[in-house]
Amino acid sequence: MRLFEDLDAATRVGPGIRRDSYGEGENAAHVIVAEAARDLGLDVTTDAGLNLFMTLPGRDRDRPAIVIGSHLDSVDNGGNFDGAAGVLAGLAIVAGYRDAGRTPGCDIKVAALRCEEAHWFDGPYVGANIALGKLDAMYLDGLRRSDTGRTLADHLREHGGDPDAIRGGAAHLDPDRIAAYLELHIEQAPVLVERDLPVGLVTGIRGYRRYANATCRGAYGHSGALPRIYRHDAVAATVDVIARLREEWRRIEDEGGDLVFTVGRIATDPDHDGPSKVPGAVDFSIDIRSTDTAVLTRMDDLLHAAIDEAAAGHGVTFDLGERSANPPAAMDADLLAKMTRAADDAGIGTMEIASGAGHDAAAFATGGVPTAMIFIRNRHGSHNPDEHMEMADFGEAVRLAAGLVAELTV
Ligand SMILES: [Zn+2]
Repeated sequence: MRLFEDLDAATRVGPGIRRDSYGEGENAAHVIVAEAARDLGLDVTTDAGLNLFMTLPGRDRDRPAIVIGSHLDSVDNGGNFDGAAGVLAGLAIVAGYRDAGRTPGCDIKVAALRCEEAHWFDGPYVGANIALGKLDAMYLDGLRRSDTGRTLADHLREHGGDPDAIRGGAAHLDPDRIAAYLELHIEQAPVLVERDLPVGLVTGIRGYRRYANATCRGAYGHSGALPRIYRHDAVAATVDVIARLREEWRRIEDEGGDLVFTVGRIATDPDHDGPSKVPGAVDFSIDIRSTDTAVLTRMDDLLHAAIDEAAAGHGVTFDLGERSANPPAAMDADLLAKMTRAADDAGIGTMEIASGAGHDAAAFATGGVPTAMIFIRNRHGSHNPDEHMEMADFGEAVRLAAGLVAELTV
């Protein structure tokens, strides 16, 4: 598809892609996509958050619309397909209607959403939440772009957005007027490559519970002299906690549950630790993610029980620090069943897959919109210049999505 090449040419900086949220790169992508939409004869409009909506009018304009969307921003030094694939898929689907001279039963709206990558503004699906009128106003002045240090409101204003309208709750999209939100996105893990399948059907987007700054405090001592019962070993205690959680992870997997659990950071104090010392302090992080709230709660409860037990057993104290959390976003079961049937009928190889990363679809799903997501096979991960989607796989995903859209817009 020529548009992928145009986006690449306009936003490649050095080895990677740079489409900075509410900046030059994202703007360039929006200009290219809006131009293509005008060429297709779509109604093109933007909202107070500069999200771009490209609408193919349906026969009955009072019927709730189908929205197909994703984001056009990228991380710095990213790849060409993360986000953009979903927007261009939407355009490919409406181009199919144009080429065939068909009019869908209801409006099909392609949404190019702004500011999804937390790389620039560390907020929750900023563009999508603005479109739905549910961005907490505190983010407008509270979020600062990681490189410029300027606020979200400032960046919005610079490019013609309207922070005051957003503050007032202006919404371009009304969840009650959306029959379904559909997002195609490259997979950001190697599962589809490993399983040799072009397309994945997303069951849900994982929520998380995270303790970024947990600590364990015991007492330093002589590693040769101190018998076990006199130790207050912070490393041993923390390792016991991690082992308990990993054991439970395996149990949950055996039960067919969805979970990933990570200790992304664990450190003794380099000013005080040593190979011949019993360690008196450990700083660590805990990251628990699942598509199932019950699993998140089960692991969180176990974490608390495990630290109590380890504290008592080792004579140490734990402080988990502040917890951050995001609920899981379930994909619509009916849409998932329809896609499964359509894929079988069309002979497209698929598997069900949970999304570990967040996506705009989460903002729609938690906003009460029936939501479906399709993952496209992608090599070398994402958020790096080497991400790679085969156009043939993109074609299969679009074919599947177009079938679903046709079924929903009869
Ligand atoms: Zn993305």
